[in-house]
Amino acid sequence: MGTVTGYRRKNGKVVAAMRTLISIVNLACLEPPSVPKGRHLEFQTGSGIIANMFTISRQFTFCYGHRLLRHCGKCANLHGHNGTVNIELRNDQLNPQGMVVDFIDVKNSLGKWIEETLDHRLILEERDPLVDLLRGQGEAVLALPVEPTAENLAKLIYEQAEQFGLPVCTVTVWETEKCAAEYRMQKLECRS
Ligand SMILES: [Zn+2]
Repeated sequence: MGTVTGYRRKNGKVVAAMRTLISIVNLACLEPPSVPKGRHLEFQTGSGIIANMFTISRQFTFCYGHRLLRHCGKCANLHGHNGTVNIELRNDQLNPQGMVVDFIDVKNSLGKWIEETLDHRLILEERDPLVDLLRGQGEAVLALPVEPTAENLAKLIYEQAEQFGLPVCTVTVWETEKCAAEYRMQKLECRS
């Protein structure tokens, strides 16, 4: 410090430069430490919890028919989609195999459910008069308590993924190539 004091006496610019340097050192101390490979790290900052995170995603396709009773346009008519769903899974640590989840397990659980429950189905709101009519004709109808929009399908698939114990964080349903709906948790700390 004697040196700094000496410079202060001689040159105000040097003192200013030293203050700047000290500020930079202090800021560097507040930066998150580097994350060691393969190790979990979590720490609190002023804006919340920060943690290292691994994310994987798996896509499935399914064809379905639906109609939206409250829609003012042509979506109120029976029509079909070649839908794509993207499942995003997240965890802050890897399993002993070095994976968030084995893709095969996602396929055998949620993928199988999508194929058996949603694929080549008519998905209608349960109050739709077509439900009873079509079931009476032997059609495979999935009746939901909500409008069968892409948003509600994303939520349905998300909740099913949770039931399978998958660490799901986002489900995106592409109704067409240009139109998608996403359902996800909002806070990182929701899945501790
Ligand atoms: Zn549609």
